[in-house]
Amino acid sequence: MNETVRIAYLLNSGFVVEDGENRWALIFDAYRDMRGDVKRALESASEVYFFVSHAHFDHFSPSIARYERATRFFLSDDIRVLSGAVRFPAERTTWLGKYDRWEDAHIRVETFDSTDEGTSFFVGIDGWRIFHAGDFNWWHWSGDTPENIGFARNGFMKQMKRLDGHVFDLAFFPADGRLEEARDWGAKEFCRRTDTAALVTMHSVGYPRFSPDADFFAPGREIPVWAPTEPGERRIYMKGSGFSE
Ligand SMILES: [Zn+2]
Repeated sequence: MNETVRIAYLLNSGFVVEDGENRWALIFDAYRDMRGDVKRALESASEVYFFVSHAHFDHFSPSIARYERATRFFLSDDIRVLSGAVRFPAERTTWLGKYDRWEDAHIRVETFDSTDEGTSFFVGIDGWRIFHAGDFNWWHWSGDTPENIGFARNGFMKQMKRLDGHVFDLAFFPADGRLEEARDWGAKEFCRRTDTAALVTMHSVGYPRFSPDADFFAPGREIPVWAPTEPGERRIYMKGSGFSE
């Protein structure tokens, strides 16, 4: 069993997560590879899995279809209608709607709904339970109409009910600076209602590095947080420990 992963930040919600022995790599929402992290993972890992949560340009690039070393592409259903969808090899591509499951002897993938487009992912591999939210978040825009604010809250809370009590070794969740005072509302609620051991915040390009307030965690429930800002930033995460460089 593998107790350590290496994580590289690509951009926005893009990450490469690799085990410590070059056996597998999980690549999420890789629409840019500015520092060659995707390329490196493709060269070193035996199994390379791509995940794309939805079709937005800052999460998805059809150019990933060219990676012949990819073991499998897990793509949200909304990508299927794009012209670039035909570039993905049918035998190595799995299209996923919300609340779908797919598994083989190596990997198990479950999807949840998003509060924006597409899905979020719950990946089980090698004893690791990893959640990537995609654009699932409490999208509270303070200048919005009361109706829209209520809609955003309800959609988020409804989905959180399905995540209640889930256990994750590692979770990737938005802490978007554009939401101002509501930047961490979604991540905070998520950490309080799931049993998440370590948090990586994302989807905040161009904003100062997120750091949790004193009341972010429930009392006695503090967990390690990494909030990358620069493409190519890397951390090692060890179960039961924390993030290190
Ligand atoms: Zn997004």
